[in-house]
Amino acid sequence: MDTFGRTIDYLRISVTDRCNERCLYCMPEGYKGWERKPDHLTADEILRVARVAARIGFRKFRLTGGEPLVRADLPDIVRGMRAIPGVEHIGISTNGTKLAALAQPLREAGVGTVNVSLDAFDPILYRRITGGDVQAVLSGLRAAVAAGFECIKLNTVLMRGVNEQEIWPLVLFAAEHGLPLRLIELMPVTTTDVLTEKNFMSVGEAMELLRQKDELIPQPDWRLGFGPAKYYQLKHTGARVGFIGAMTNLHFCETCNKMRLTADGKVRPCLGDHGEIDLRHALRHEPDDDAIQDLLRAALQRKPLEHSFRNAYQPCRPMTAIGG
Ligand code: SAM
Ligand code: SF4
Repeated sequence: MDTFGRTIDYLRISVTDRCNERCLYCMPEGYKGWERKPDHLTADEILRVARVAARIGFRKFRLTGGEPLVRADLPDIVRGMRAIPGVEHIGISTNGTKLAALAQPLREAGVGTVNVSLDAFDPILYRRITGGDVQAVLSGLRAAVAAGFECIKLNTVLMRGVNEQEIWPLVLFAAEHGLPLRLIELMPVTTTDVLTEKNFMSVGEAMELLRQKDELIPQPDWRLGFGPAKYYQLKHTGARVGFIGAMTNLHFCETCNKMRLTADGKVRPCLGDHGEIDLRHALRHEPDDDAIQDLLRAALQRKPLEHSFRNAYQPCRPMTAIGG
């Protein structure tokens, strides 16, 4: 429980700040990741944090990044986490480009659910947004479906004038394959440059766009995981669409249930707040897990009531370094 009475039982662990894509809104131009490998927590250090977190009540874990699938020991990390008492769920967030080869091993290692980012189908637009190849993502999605994950969700970041024409095709694809689609408002996590009036699209606008095509039936009881999306079912297409409106929903933080661990070992109680507590030093110098537990509890106590994205927030490190 944090100081505002919210149950915080979800830890998102960034396993790397590196990525094989370069999304406009996430990765600053020229960013190469930390130069020195020792900056990243080792698999054993990540597992130690997960073990202590589970001891104080964290139950759901998500491995993210950067792109978590670029880390070769990811299946080992998942296997290690599965063996920790109290760990009930492990999900991953990925750009999907490496899932074709890794979906099956990750499923066997114990990953329950997968969130795959997909901002556009059009190959040229996809490449413009991410620098990558949309065909690799589609192959990855096929492999993920075949691997039998409990749930596969699609994540799309809304950008007016960039991918708004892709939203309806994405909805139809989601409906056809029975995959929930989540439409996410752009946040100033990496740079405030992305958040111009010209390219910011609110979830309200996206809803209006979908209402021109279909009827949206609210599903207040759907959770479909542990995230903050508000879900609707589209009456005729049958698509399940979630809206994540961190910028425009003033109640967004009331139900927050998570903290983040960055790949360099900082606990970040809130994505939209600069507060961080360093765990890495303790992980490398304190043999007693109680020291780690005290730091995690201190982070819980420092979790703010709400993010600061609406208060002239100035990002100080890229999303890829914090963990999405
Ligand atoms: N590489 C993986 C991926 O792309 O899914 C995992 C990490 S990524 C940082 C996690 C999620 O954060 C993705 O769905 C991505 O679209 C989202 N994201 C990154 N930067 C964002 C921003 N500025 N605003 C909103 N969402 C963002
Ligand atoms: Fe890489 Fe994911 Fe960030 Fe895109 S959103 S640059 S895929 S970490």
